[in-house]
Amino acid sequence: MTEPHDHSRDPQPDHPEPGPQARRGMAIQALLIEKGHLTADKVREAVERLDMQNTPARGQQVVARAWTDPDFKARLLENAKIAIADLDIDVEAPNLVAVENTDKIHNVVVCTLCSCYPTALLGLSPAWYKSLEYRSRAVSEPRNVLKEFGLKLDPDVQIRVYDSTANMRYLVVSQRPSGTGDLTEEELADLVTRDSMIGVARARSPEPTTV
Ligand code: FE
Repeated sequence: MTEPHDHSRDPQPDHPEPGPQARRGMAIQALLIEKGHLTADKVREAVERLDMQNTPARGQQVVARAWTDPDFKARLLENAKIAIADLDIDVEAPNLVAVENTDKIHNVVVCTLCSCYPTALLGLSPAWYKSLEYRSRAVSEPRNVLKEFGLKLDPDVQIRVYDSTANMRYLVVSQRPSGTGDLTEEELADLVTRDSMIGVARARSPEPTTV
């Protein structure tokens, strides 16, 4: 029989050791709980609240509204942060810029430095968004990157890459798919995918493609 031993210190490949910042946060949390300023239940509630918000629903709502309400769209493109405040959405960053795709211009968002992302609108960012490969290649060869995402653009479509920062977040307003004239705003929101709001895809089509 093998000796029982403590596995709690064994390295887990998919659970890397917490970094200095995480360890500092855990220590502060433990101290606040010990001093009675915080409870473990309050921490759990806060995490649960964040998890519940982790969907692209608000971004979908914003883009669908822009598709159906020209006045809103004009205000969104003018000052997105103020426009979405009307929908009771608060972006954590000081500035939000909405960029519109057209027949001639396609917009893509990246954060070359780290992983800045409009989480209030899109939920948590996907792993690929934070990868070094996307962060570097989205700038150096965006057309190829988009092709790898399955988005082929005509050569005459200009690609504009926006680099997010802690102060500036971007939202791509994709083109409204054709054949959606009869859809309600709610139905349209379903067609707005997370990836289309980052700019690596188009909005979904309501009908299966017949190409
Ligand atoms: Fe960043």
